[in-house]
Amino acid sequence: MTAPALNTSQSQAIFGAAQALMPGGVSSPVRAFKSVGGQPIVFDRVKGPYAWDVDGNKYIDYIGSWGPAICGHAHPEVIAALQEAIEKGTSFGAPCALENTLAEMVIDAVPSVEMVRFVNSGTEACMAVLRLIRAYTGRDKVIKFEGCYHGHADMFLVKAGSGVATLGLPDSPGVPRSTTANTLTAPYNDLEAVKALFAENPDAIAGVILEPIVGNAGFIQPEPGFLEGLRELTKEHGALLVFDEVMTGFRISYGGAQAHFGVTPDLTTMGKVIGGGLPVGAYGGRADIMGMVAPAGPMYQAGTLSGNPLAMTAGIKTLELLKQPGTYEKLTATTQKLVAGIKDAAQSAGMPITAASVSAMFGFFLCEGPVRNFEEAKSTDSERFGKLHRSMLERGIYLAPSAFEAGFTSLAHSDADIEATINAFRESFAAVA
Ligand SMILES: *Cc1c(COP(=O)(O)O)cnc(C)c1O
Repeated sequence: MTAPALNTSQSQAIFGAAQALMPGGVSSPVRAFKSVGGQPIVFDRVKGPYAWDVDGNKYIDYIGSWGPAICGHAHPEVIAALQEAIEKGTSFGAPCALENTLAEMVIDAVPSVEMVRFVNSGTEACMAVLRLIRAYTGRDKVIKFEGCYHGHADMFLVKAGSGVATLGLPDSPGVPRSTTANTLTAPYNDLEAVKALFAENPDAIAGVILEPIVGNAGFIQPEPGFLEGLRELTKEHGALLVFDEVMTGFRISYGGAQAHFGVTPDLTTMGKVIGGGLPVGAYGGRADIMGMVAPAGPMYQAGTLSGNPLAMTAGIKTLELLKQPGTYEKLTATTQKLVAGIKDAAQSAGMPITAASVSAMFGFFLCEGPVRNFEEAKSTDSERFGKLHRSMLERGIYLAPSAFEAGFTSLAHSDADIEATINAFRESFAAVA
């Protein structure tokens, strides 16, 4: 079945004009649709599970602003709370009680977090946590995994997953070799490689940072024993374990991936969901380590807009909504139904597929699988993914514009939305098979 032609003339005009105004016409690279081809869609507004573009086309959205919209876009309670908060001002640059409220909620929810510092993005949180583990241990080296993304700070731009991979840049120019010289990498799910790095660098490794479920190399889960093994290895070598839960925090469960898997890191970074759609990041963990952070301790880190009342309000309201009983059961059921439908649709079209989900995060690769690391993810058919992406877009389904991104569902996605999406997958798999 062919989809009705999608009129995107306004999107094209706006994106065309943007080319001369902003590099690549965007404020963040993956938005430019480079890896799937075609032109990006310019959004006008979002509500619940939907987005409307500037030409008036409506889409069921599986990005949710890359994670924050877990309760649905522009949730009425979040909007109402923001409207009330904005009357009191947008930024204080001084302590505000709302910071205590959100901090208490995060500390109650996330097993590893005894104290927290708010920042403005996931990038900032990861940058700061790296400085912190170095300050605390007095060591310089850090281990990250191929395909894991920890924001765009220099030290992390080594084998950094989707955005970088999509552009085909192994690293970025402008990152001095000296900055990444202390960044060691291992394949995800490869404990032996991590053991070898510890053996080769005795007493030099400050810590290990990872996405406890990968979302930036496509959706990749840790194999049984991997997180537990990292927990033991770091302890054994006097290094710290950091879970980058910027994507998984409050999405995999109310306590994040660490609560889901029952493995508690020393430190955790967060972002996306905890800002409820406003710019927020956070890092937190053991009180003795967080005590190093200025002004309690000597490790400097600061932020003009950090902890501002609007961002705190959106975060608090979003967590309140997530804390209601049944939330994660509903998210899980919705996502499982979607993934079962995607698998069935691909199989009916005779297409190889591997697909999975945990709670409100899912992904699929166009291969038999299993996909356990970035190397295996990269070997899947990304050209065909581009065609699939375009076909889905024409049918009103907005998927992440890269084969190396996870998908996100929300509390607002109804059974009817999921069924419409599965139908679109059926038609699209048949069209690109
Ligand atoms: C999105 C993301 C970041 C970066 O967060 P920004 O708010 O985009 O700076 C870091 N780590 C992970 C795992 C992410 O998904």
